[in-house]
Amino acid sequence: MNPVSLLSATDLYKTFRVSSQGHSTRSLTALDRVSLHLESGETLGIAGESGCGKSTLAKIMAGLLAPDAGAVLYKGTPLAELGRDEGNVFRRKTQMIFQDPFSSLNPRMRIGDSISEPFKIAGMTAPQQRPELERIMSAVGLAPEAANRFPDEFSGGQRQRIGIARALAASPEILIADEPVSSLDISIQAQIINILLQMKSDFTLSMMIVSHNLLILRHICDRIIIMYLGAIVESGPAAELFSRCRHPYTEALIAAIPGLHTTAAAKSELLRDDLPSALSIPSGCRFHPRCRHAVDRCRHETPALTEYSGGHSSACHLSDSLFG
Ligand code: SF4
Repeated sequence: MNPVSLLSATDLYKTFRVSSQGHSTRSLTALDRVSLHLESGETLGIAGESGCGKSTLAKIMAGLLAPDAGAVLYKGTPLAELGRDEGNVFRRKTQMIFQDPFSSLNPRMRIGDSISEPFKIAGMTAPQQRPELERIMSAVGLAPEAANRFPDEFSGGQRQRIGIARALAASPEILIADEPVSSLDISIQAQIINILLQMKSDFTLSMMIVSHNLLILRHICDRIIIMYLGAIVESGPAAELFSRCRHPYTEALIAAIPGLHTTAAAKSELLRDDLPSALSIPSGCRFHPRCRHAVDRCRHETPALTEYSGGHSSACHLSDSLFG
């Protein structure tokens, strides 16, 4: 980690109050002491099963949601301490791409006008906006003539291109994408991933990509963080995580990738039972009810996230004996 990272977080803690029929309101822990950093020019992946807190983390890192405790720092300054002008710069420089771009588009606004909104905010005149709009639409593979159409006239893949174009129009330095391709067909997923990679180099971006699809993250990320029930259990360089993971949960996630290494029987042996509820996080190592290696210590003592060589960290009491 650099002394001053582009974007970082320290000890983020976030709970939500939830109520269910017949029960009083309870507290759901979405994030539990999560710290991370995103360096300039880096692509960071956040992986884990549904409900592990990765989307909450993305919103907090983008400044769209406040943590209960802990802080997000932009170039070393906590977001809460940014002045009005600095806060505006952060909000413009940090753009988010959502799983469902349709929900973030005004259905009554032509997509050219939606994409151009940041140009207007920046004070550009209409004649100045047109060539910029065409440049960005072409960059994401949209025909400039499509600018006059409305969101409901586009397919899911085209809407995601619109979402990316809209984010790029603000000239961001950080792009945070929450499951950007999970609702798309496989062939369209590849197109959108390739656009993101192209944009990263063309627009000199740093990216944080949230996905349950580890294979996609391995393809596009420099580093990957693995989350389980609101906590980081492993993080490290993408290639190393796949060639030499250091946590049984990561091992199980990799084994569950279709067509990679393992048989169905081996997968079920690696990952027991279903994900427990975040309303009642297991004591000790939160992964212990599903871990085939769990020993008595795992049920009582929470493993610390320990750094090994090359920025590779793991939170497992038995990491050394299991993975060498
Ligand atoms: Fe499994 Fe124990 Fe390691 Fe947790 S600390 S992952 S239960 S071996």
